[in-house]
Amino acid sequence: MAADSSKTAGGTLSAENPPSTPADQTEVAILGGGPCGLYAALTLAKAGRKVTLIEKEEVTGGLARGHKRGENFYDLGVHMLHAFDQGVFEAVKEIMGEERIEVPLNAKIKWAGSFYRYPLQFGDMVKGMNPFVLAQCCFGLLAYQSWYKLRPKEPKDAEEALIQLYGKPLYEFFFKEFTTRYWGFPPTQLSATFITTKMPRLSAVDVIKKMLSKIGIKDNSVHAVESALSEETLHYSRNGAEAMPRLLAEEIERLGCRVIRHADVVGVSLDADGKRATAVSYRDTQSGDEHTIACDHVISTIPIKNFLAAFGDQAPEDVRDSAEFLKTKAITIYGLLVKKERAIDALYIYYRDKAFHRVGEPKNAGLLVNPPDHTVLIVETTCEVGDAKWNGEESAREAIFADLEKEGICTPDEIVEVNLLRTPHGYPIFGLGFEPHLEKVNAFVGGIENVQTTGRQGGFCYPNMHKAMRMGANAADHILEATGSDSGEKATH
Ligand SMILES: Cc1cc2nc3c(=O)[nH]c(=O)nc-3n(C[C@H](O)[C@H](O)[C@H](O)COP(=O)(O)OP(=O)(O)OC[C@H]3O[C@@H](n4cnc5c(N)ncnc54)[C@H](O)[C@@H]3O)c2cc1C
Repeated sequence: MAADSSKTAGGTLSAENPPSTPADQTEVAILGGGPCGLYAALTLAKAGRKVTLIEKEEVTGGLARGHKRGENFYDLGVHMLHAFDQGVFEAVKEIMGEERIEVPLNAKIKWAGSFYRYPLQFGDMVKGMNPFVLAQCCFGLLAYQSWYKLRPKEPKDAEEALIQLYGKPLYEFFFKEFTTRYWGFPPTQLSATFITTKMPRLSAVDVIKKMLSKIGIKDNSVHAVESALSEETLHYSRNGAEAMPRLLAEEIERLGCRVIRHADVVGVSLDADGKRATAVSYRDTQSGDEHTIACDHVISTIPIKNFLAAFGDQAPEDVRDSAEFLKTKAITIYGLLVKKERAIDALYIYYRDKAFHRVGEPKNAGLLVNPPDHTVLIVETTCEVGDAKWNGEESAREAIFADLEKEGICTPDEIVEVNLLRTPHGYPIFGLGFEPHLEKVNAFVGGIENVQTTGRQGGFCYPNMHKAMRMGANAADHILEATGSDSGEKATH
């Protein structure tokens, strides 16, 4: 078991202030109880390891937790599990038992006044464009592809990456304004890495590219990711996203491990050489008391910026400065209870030019709503902490309600409850030049033998739940392998 620390972390633990009782010791401290932390804890708990999971909020689940408001559950953006990772899926399926329900994917996008299957297909996109614009876009794609084939070039920002991928006319027509609206700043301030690792591939363009490749013009430039959404069955519960993290946490506790809620991680202590973490400190968000847990290993899934702050001056100043660069985009979800049986004909619909960018109706996926003749709408917006949308100010509500009415989804007087669900950590911002900052922070954490930072927040990346859980399993396996056993469960792809 870890010895007492000799350095102070965030000013909370020192040789004069050792862990108070033997109970304040654990083999592995897992910071953050979202899907990644929960799955890491589950993997270690199943292997018989002593784990303590430390979660800031009242309930586990992170971005994927259920929010009980009145008689109903609201997701922070409708959260459904994909079954792409068989290992993760089978484990979750067993734990969820009868609470799991299957939902056929039915996502749409409103484009040029009509609804289409999401992601947008080639034929549908063409329908939304006038022939002149379409010809311009095809010609632009051809011209830019040819140019970059002759003169390959690393794109300097997201704008250039998009132009390399799609050509300038299509970029101007389809991406520029929407990307700016979504992020609150233009694509010239986003890193090209965002396009290659996050942006779903527009299948329309693939078709044009296939046509071009047939006449010998191959695309060797930038590559966007495939969208996670295709034909598939998703997994959910009658309480929405709420059931999965609750049941995972219960299973972890049943296996003899601890889940501490209302616990805000504020310090990590290193040994005298700065090579190993010896303890983690957290503040009880209800009582304000601070506690310290000695540990042999740490898996952190909390935002990387906050994790770095927990090292205090044990981390060099330039590393702390770099961590400050790793910002996240806030989201505010307007969880509405609406006096209407049904509001939309899909699980969710994406919009490109409204005060919101997605509206979900989880009742269409089987969510139980109270009273039953009402429905719940999950209206997603990106925002800044403290702005009108974040604060739920009248101006923001009016804009959202007006667009809902314009879209024929509901009228303001059908909205009987407005619940604001918010997080400052919705999306990692791949700002221009973020890469060396992330590398520096990762190099510092990587230099501490028994510490790993992972998941969406800890890895500063964009996994879905199953991928975040796989990242948690990998972190757990790393410890199991290093200490002489493994979980026996490996990624299936
Ligand atoms: C709007 C939206 C919709 C999405 N829909 C889907 C979907 O349908 N399907 C899907 O597969 N994925 C979806 N995702 C992605 C999914 O939310 C993430 O993959 C997943 O939540 C990542 O899990 P994580 O554990 O890595 O991070 P998180 O879920 O962010 O968990 C991090 C945890 O750390 C805790 N924490 C933070 N700071 C501290 C601290 N100081 N001390 C202690 N604890 C702390 C947080 O409270 C949180 O519980 C969606 C994401 C968004 C934003």
